Amino acid sequence: MSRPSPEHRPPPDADERRAVRPVVCYPVDALAPPDLDSYRAARLGWERVAAVTVPPRDARSFTVPAGCFFRIVSVEGPQVGDLNLWSADDLGERFFSGKTRALHGTHVTTGHRLWSSLPFLRPLATITDDTLDWYGFDEDGGGVHDVIGTRCDPYTHRLLTGGTYHHCCHSNLTRALAAQTGLPPAQAKRHVHDVLNVFMCTGFTRDTHQYFMKASPVRPGDYLEFFAEVDLLGALSACPGGDCSAEHSSDVARCYPLLIEVYRPKAPPAGWVSPARNSYAAPDA
Ligand SMILES: [Zn+2]
Repeated sequence: MSRPSPEHRPPPDADERRAVRPVVCYPVDALAPPDLDSYRAARLGWERVAAVTVPPRDARSFTVPAGCFFRIVSVEGPQVGDLNLWSADDLGERFFSGKTRALHGTHVTTGHRLWSSLPFLRPLATITDDTLDWYGFDEDGGGVHDVIGTRCDPYTHRLLTGGTYHHCCHSNLTRALAAQTGLPPAQAKRHVHDVLNVFMCTGFTRDTHQYFMKASPVRPGDYLEFFAEVDLLGALSACPGGDCSAEHSSDVARCYPLLIEVYRPKAPPAGWVSPARNSYAAPDA
């Protein structure tokens, strides 16, 4: 049972109460849109300065200096990636999936920003290209690159099945962060956070509004490209779910590597400055 039948009769004005107009919670009109032309012009003559291959059912960390670009590239076969981002200077400032969702919607694409946690709340990265932008939303309500899922983890797996699995994205990201920082895994796992589900195709079922996944439309050669607004530390897990068409906490799915590429432009985009941390000053802090 995913949602019980109502126990209470609707009031006489139920239709009227339901018919009120929805209002977007966080209108983003006041935000200056990213100057995509300027970002893209900076790609001319850029140089690939790093490439990291993420093995299937495993994760790797990477760093990107502010003002550089990085791409997550599909290679060999359809594969979903779980992305974590931190400010390279401070693990306490990390990608804020929930607020990114509140600002941009359930799935992100070109022109959207990946925002950082409170009290920092600034763009960590801007999406500058998305070869899957053609997908839009399908008839099931599914879209690509969601900020609604969390990351597959062994605790939920245990809760729901009683099983033990050591290569969930949560665990992979923990090990990658521990290897990068030298933190013991028990500390590193506290910095792992809700992800951007790169290439994953997800939505909410029409009837119960439950989170669903379906086979990713990604194919080798597709990529999602970001511009680093601040110095970044990232970690990417090649999810054990593979294309996430069936299950994601087991060795059942066919999995493929993912490639991370870092590009340094000849000069930063014209007019670009690295964003400052949010200027709000709390009276009690
Ligand atoms: Zn996963």
